[in-house]
Amino acid sequence: MPFSGMDDPPGAGPVNEPLRAVIARHGLWAKKGLGQNFLLDLNLTRRIARAAAPFDNVTVFEVGPGPGGLTRALLEAGATVVAVERDPRCCAALAELAVQWPGKLTLVEGDAREVDPADHIEGAIKIVANLPYNVATPLLVGWLGHARRFASMTLMFQKEVAQRIAAAPGSGEYGRLSVLAQWACETDCLFDIPPRAFVPPPKITSTVVRLVPRAEPEAVDQQALERVTAAAFGQRRKMLRASLRSLGIDTDALIADAGIEPTARAETLTIPQYCRLARAYAARSVTPPADATRTR
Ligand code: SAM
Repeated sequence: MPFSGMDDPPGAGPVNEPLRAVIARHGLWAKKGLGQNFLLDLNLTRRIARAAAPFDNVTVFEVGPGPGGLTRALLEAGATVVAVERDPRCCAALAELAVQWPGKLTLVEGDAREVDPADHIEGAIKIVANLPYNVATPLLVGWLGHARRFASMTLMFQKEVAQRIAAAPGSGEYGRLSVLAQWACETDCLFDIPPRAFVPPPKITSTVVRLVPRAEPEAVDQQALERVTAAAFGQRRKMLRASLRSLGIDTDALIADAGIEPTARAETLTIPQYCRLARAYAARSVTPPADATRTR
């Protein structure tokens, strides 16, 4: 049930109470299973908010606000925020923040994988999140499927995932996620955040990435693109004529349709070439309707 701070206050805490005190008062010890590493450094939360600004005429969709550090920075920067949080303990702390910012923060308790931002926000949407690492990639892939509904996405990932998102063909990091992300968006790794900035500190460095949806991405079915990239990168050291066999269709014909060298390897193909491959795959894997197969 969304709570926007316009309803009866549930007992607000002191305004601008330090996040550490909020965490202590609500017993928000970090749960590993929920990817909870809280960012308490105001300089960094404000830096992420600045990277996502401006916030005129948009609503921010925040995933996993936790105790509300980034949420506060977004609100201070003038954003209106709809935040989805799975942990009910955090929701209690966030409900207090919603009271302090009447009408500016709406809280949705639930799993972000099951929440469509458009069900809660009318008009332009910017996604901003310190994503829980365990669901970061599936969430991004889901949003990429309809990326043009978002004005931008400013997201924190594990550094290795961020590098894969922005990797160029030919590099060791280039993979399925690079193709899907760069097909739909311009991608930019903005800055790193060291483990010591979090409570508790994770084992890895994090990176904030900005994705700005392309106005006109190449016309291609995302599922077909996902299938061909999964097959190609599933065996990235092999030539495409071998790695694409897992698609279960005539690989030589598919590669010829797409105008690609059969001896090429997954990591050398550009995104336009993957799009050609996906279109050829979609054309070959669709069973024609019964009428279309009849001799006229
Ligand atoms: N935004 C906070 C910060 O910067 O300190 C917390 C970030 S923490 C890395 C990830 C947050 O996502 C946690 O608060 C966790 O409870 C929440 N979370 C984990 N899985 C989630 C899911 N499937 N849907 C919504 N929130 C989730």
